Amino acid sequence: MELISIIVPCYNEQEVLPLFYEEIKKVTGQMQNDNKELEFEYLFINDGSKDRTLAMLRDLAAKDKSVRYISFSRNFGKEAGMFAGLENAKGDYVVIMDADLQHPPKFIPKMYDYVKNHGYDCATTRRVSRKGESKIRSWFARKFYSIMNRISQTEIVDGAQDFRFMTRQMVDSILEMKEYNRFSKGIFSWVGFDTKYIEYENVERAAGTTAWSFTSLVKYSLEGIFAFSTAPLAIASVLGVISCLIAFVIIMVVIVKTIAFGEAVQGFPTTVCAIFFIGGLQLFCTGILGQYLSKTYLETKSRPVYIIKETEETKIKRTVNKDL
Ligand code: UDP
Ligand code: MG
Repeated sequence: MELISIIVPCYNEQEVLPLFYEEIKKVTGQMQNDNKELEFEYLFINDGSKDRTLAMLRDLAAKDKSVRYISFSRNFGKEAGMFAGLENAKGDYVVIMDADLQHPPKFIPKMYDYVKNHGYDCATTRRVSRKGESKIRSWFARKFYSIMNRISQTEIVDGAQDFRFMTRQMVDSILEMKEYNRFSKGIFSWVGFDTKYIEYENVERAAGTTAWSFTSLVKYSLEGIFAFSTAPLAIASVLGVISCLIAFVIIMVVIVKTIAFGEAVQGFPTTVCAIFFIGGLQLFCTGILGQYLSKTYLETKSRPVYIIKETEETKIKRTVNKDL
């Protein structure tokens, strides 16, 4: 028997969850028909949803023995959800996918085939278009990938997604990375292994709304840069050197001027410029240092990445909150 775990992080997904369940069951049912050796488990991670997601998961788990769920004590973010899924999945193969059907389940049989029969350790999708996304958003996304790949040794493929089919061996390697600031796109690439990219056109969310605002995407990109590159620290030193050189030139000019024309209040603008310039650079560089320091600070605390409140096994016996 071969067990495939399907991990699905969910945050306020009440609209799409039934659609998703139906779709995934169709695809996996077909796979089981073709190959009697296959078994599936569905591991849903409720990431502190504020709607009826948890109630729906409880119902699904009660009806379907292959459905498991983990419910967090609050919203910990998708990264934490994926990590919890990977830690708790029992499968020989593990799939991570979104609940909103933007990661079409129909790719799973193909992914399985690549991993099982073609020697790949991981199969993933790569969207070749950013259809349905605003122009500014795609522009920023593309810029992020090009900068990221220039300043970091870890390659991050543009359009690569968190929709992944992995072997147990790769999952175990990912679990070895215990960092608190998790940036999965980097982690998947950092652990290595042979990855097959299946290209496809972007699909829009089946229902519900995305939980990512523009600012949260910017934050996420910075997270990626600070987690997988120390180049910004070098920028700080380079800027420092440049500013020192400029300051040196200004000082020379001032000295020569003073010797030639005597002291005058005329130099005032230069002074102000210099103070602002150096001050600005210093703040900029301190900011970069601060970013790394804050990451180090969080890492040294070694807090858990997530906290579980309830699973299908420990379903809370007391009356469940009717609103959730
Ligand atoms: N998600 C999550 N925690 C969060 C935000 C999102 O578990 O704090 C889940 C969400 O339920 C979905 C997946 O992550 O299954 C991707 O989220 P979304 O569709 O909002 O992102 P997008 O597709 O726009 O990148
Ligand atoms: Mg989505």
